[in-house]
Amino acid sequence: MLEKRLHLEIRTPEQLIYEGDVTSVRAPGELGSFEILAGHIPFLTVLDIGEIRIRESDTPQSIATSGGVFEVLRTGVTVLADTAEWAYEIDVERAEAARQRAEEHLASRDSNINYARAEAALARATNRLRIAGQQ
Ligand code: ATP
Repeated sequence: MLEKRLHLEIRTPEQLIYEGDVTSVRAPGELGSFEILAGHIPFLTVLDIGEIRIRESDTPQSIATSGGVFEVLRTGVTVLADTAEWAYEIDVERAEAARQRAEEHLASRDSNINYARAEAALARATNRLRIAGQQ
């Protein structure tokens, strides 16, 4: 029997990342990762830094995100992400440089450093490296 599909749209403020019909989408909710299948009841949640994983066919595809809003309607799912990169699009050298910068900031005793900002930059970079490394 054919698996039921749900319509999914993933956008950033700059571009449409994905639009299509999937059998499932997994996303990094604030309270942990969750998975949505066709027919799920409507809800709205905030996303954390992490991985969006869509299943269109047998092979799941991964997208790194730095957060956003995830909305389930009867007509489908819309994700409005702050940033979103397909695993194969991630520039590993850039993420590695961002990771090093953030670690240096966190290790420094400079009172001008915004630690929360450095922690968030480190989390974004580590997430990109993890997702790029899964391929
Ligand atoms: P950097 O310090 O390298 O800019 P960042 O975490 O501060 O990293 P963001 O503000 O999250 O970057 O993203 C800015 C834009 O750059 C977004 O469009 C995002 O998709 C893209 N981007 C950031 N890092 C990478 C990367 N390693 N590979 C591909 N695109 C990236």
